[in-house]
Amino acid sequence: MRVAVLGAGYAGLVLAQRLERRLPAAVDIVVVDESPTHLVQHEVHRVIRRPSVADAITLPLDDALDRAEIVTERVEHVDAEAGLAELADGTELDYDFGAVCLGSETNFYDLPGVEEHGLPLKRVRHAEAIRTRFLDVCEAGGTVVVGGAGLSGVQTAGELAALAGERDATDRVDVVLLEQFDSVAPNFPENFQQAVHDELEARGVEIRTDTPVQRADADSIELAAGAQPYDLFVWTGGIRGADAMGGERPVVRNDLRLTESTFVVGDAARAVDADGEAVPASASAAIREAGAAARNMAELVTHELDGDGADFAPRLKPYRFEVPGWIVSVGDGAVAQVGPTVVTGAAAKAMKTTVGAGYLSSVKAVEKAAELVEEELDA
Ligand SMILES: Cc1cc2nc3c(=O)[nH]c(=O)nc-3n(C[C@H](O)[C@H](O)[C@H](O)COP(=O)(O)OP(=O)(O)OC[C@H]3O[C@@H](n4cnc5c(N)ncnc54)[C@H](O)[C@@H]3O)c2cc1C
Repeated sequence: MRVAVLGAGYAGLVLAQRLERRLPAAVDIVVVDESPTHLVQHEVHRVIRRPSVADAITLPLDDALDRAEIVTERVEHVDAEAGLAELADGTELDYDFGAVCLGSETNFYDLPGVEEHGLPLKRVRHAEAIRTRFLDVCEAGGTVVVGGAGLSGVQTAGELAALAGERDATDRVDVVLLEQFDSVAPNFPENFQQAVHDELEARGVEIRTDTPVQRADADSIELAAGAQPYDLFVWTGGIRGADAMGGERPVVRNDLRLTESTFVVGDAARAVDADGEAVPASASAAIREAGAAARNMAELVTHELDGDGADFAPRLKPYRFEVPGWIVSVGDGAVAQVGPTVVTGAAAKAMKTTVGAGYLSSVKAVEKAAELVEEELDA
């Protein structure tokens, strides 16, 4: 029997590690990712200011997995009904049970000029490209516009403002954060939004809410209120599904399955949990979904191996979305929401470091965890 995990980000790596522990040795586990390394994506904005963080947040899959076969190849298409993945080298990988964990792509919403001129931020190379261009802006002076004030946009604007400060360029560099909704970090609780807003403002970020981007050309962005000139444009305005899933983020059942044998986990799906709540695309959710998917997948595999037949299906556990809170960094500051309480300052910063390092330790990357703590303490 073969179990395939497509994508080894938070969802895929955590799922694959749990399957290695739960599934009998006779079951083959195949993990496919286009990259040989796992990326701790929720820290990738740090690389804009601290290129050395890249090393602490990339983890060779070989080190993280024990017995799974690792295939470094791009997944071109998934046929979830047939249980088949087509890979870029022409291989067809069929599986008895599979999980699509391919994450998401940046969504440019077909806004004219935005994909052409806006730099995305998902991978280390994106952060490095933003840094290179931003250092030029710091030299010459100018405006950097970040489009979209979700988790990634807020943290990117914070890093850019902090980097301008480190380059003594605060007087000649404007960091402008645009958001189409009426608050930064839309979808999050109001006290969290307010604290994030205050942290950004304290670092000199100009926040423009209720300001959807309409189009962009080489040096300005069209807004309802007129043109916003820019020297660097970073686009963190939203996500869409993986190309291998036709660009869609399909809605999965609350047991995280799309079909009888294919799960979709993490950003790749739109999950609605056991209470009917929409699960936000986030690292926190992807990790927790992976735990639930591993339990359910193991249940199905055991059922099949035991030859229990088709007369009754195993009862799978619905996924319930529960996170203790949210933490974002804003330059050298941070905002943490724990239950109803919002914390900022040194306590929030310590929490942020602990969460990143704790995650790395949980995926067996203890040295990387230590490296990340060191990088954060240096910041
Ligand atoms: C700058 C930034 C800051 C963020 N901050 C936070 C935060 O503070 N808190 C939080 O909870 N979330 C945060 N997020 C969101 C979080 O990173 C994502 O929600 C999370 O990465 C989703 O996990 P995933 O496993 O679904 O996908 P990913 O982590 O994106 O993993 C997808 C994997 O699939 C692989 N892959 C993709 N396509 C293919 C293909 N066609 N073939 C083969 N392999 C493929 C990729 O290489 C990758 O390894 C942030 C995101 C960004 C960009």
